[in-house]
Amino acid sequence: MRISMVSEHASPLAALGGVDAGGQNVHVAALSEALARRGHSVTVYTRRDAPELDRRVRVGPGLDVVHVDAGPARHIPKDELLPLMGELADGIARDWGQRPPDVVHGHFWMSGLAALDAARRDTAFRVPMVQTFHALGTVKRRFQGAEDTSPRERRWLEPGVGRDADRIIATCPDEVFELKAMGIDTGKVSIAPCGVDLGLFTTAAPAAPRTRRHRILSVGRLVPRKGVDLVIRALPLLAAAGHHDVELLIVGGGADPGVLHSDPEVRRLMALAAGLGVLPQVTFRGQVPRADMPGIFRSANAVVCTPWYEPFGIVPLEAMACGVPVVAAAVGGLRDTVVDHGTGIHVPPRDPEAIASALGLLLGDPALQAELGAAGQQRARSRYSWDRVAAETEKAYQAAMSGMAAGQVRMEGAAL
Ligand code: UDP
Repeated sequence: MRISMVSEHASPLAALGGVDAGGQNVHVAALSEALARRGHSVTVYTRRDAPELDRRVRVGPGLDVVHVDAGPARHIPKDELLPLMGELADGIARDWGQRPPDVVHGHFWMSGLAALDAARRDTAFRVPMVQTFHALGTVKRRFQGAEDTSPRERRWLEPGVGRDADRIIATCPDEVFELKAMGIDTGKVSIAPCGVDLGLFTTAAPAAPRTRRHRILSVGRLVPRKGVDLVIRALPLLAAAGHHDVELLIVGGGADPGVLHSDPEVRRLMALAAGLGVLPQVTFRGQVPRADMPGIFRSANAVVCTPWYEPFGIVPLEAMACGVPVVAAAVGGLRDTVVDHGTGIHVPPRDPEAIASALGLLLGDPALQAELGAAGQQRARSRYSWDRVAAETEKAYQAAMSGMAAGQVRMEGAAL
């Protein structure tokens, strides 16, 4: 198949950990690579956000990234990109020329708009369009309220993308219920989870050194909804339970230390830690390159993922693949990936006491850490390879191409 991916803000070539660079970048890169390995020809269209980027970059056999000129060639926060989607669609349609792809796959609602726009330019032939939302505005508004900076138009344009797409790929069952509540026909929804790079994230990776007896790890974009403050709040509670020699390593945020320490979210978290008297236990590591992540995961006794909400969450899968237990808020995709008392421990959302007690249980019991870690590795390997996710995705493409609309939600996703 000739496949076009559209990922307006999340380039597969971007460095990860910044405010707008995380799971979607990993997802688009790894899925595209896995589809190319299966013999497909994949082109990823993303917005040019730096002048020096080549227009077309060959990433590997069967995989190109095209930087489309749409607005100024500099970083623009994703919530300000909507007015540029027409230009992005122009660039995509221009690149297709007389040879449109077999299928176009939009990632995030705005890419969905551009993908649909490009797919409809030729009135004689409409390119089948598949959509992955990654995150939904309805959920974001529910949790972030007035702090949601999404454009107002998302309220009606996002459900419109859902209605117009030929097929939708949800990453977890929770998302299917949200789509249904948005009035979208779930008969055209397939479930395919995110995957994890099992070649990179392994138990064989040598552990990076740690500075205290126990290390707790938090990895992700430094935005309030990731709930890193909750982990900081758990530290004094852990100390009160007798776990004093504990460090919290926080990975993510800016690449250079100067920028990192002027980041308002880092300052907020540091002030919180200082106020609680736990600042000496907390290290902000900033952005870590992919290749160094496995060693960092391996250095931790537990990885904590306690977002307010989470459409999927690749970090827990990476931790599991490295054999490290995960303390996870029981929200969104984390309810599927992390098995409570199987590969980690579930805690209610926004509950530092529950985080401290789950961590206390793990830190006090190395055998339990090893048992949950081994089960996590097994689960990641058996269910979440990108090859398996690519095979599921391919089925959704075929369904879109054949115009097939199954009468019910196809729950064949690897997460189930
Ligand atoms: N990540 C990374 N280096 C960093 C911070 C994050 O490689 O400094 C990666 C992390 O390993 C994971 C992704 O960014 O692969 C975050 O994905 P996730 O789905 O957990 O969160 P999202 O960013 O989608 O909210």
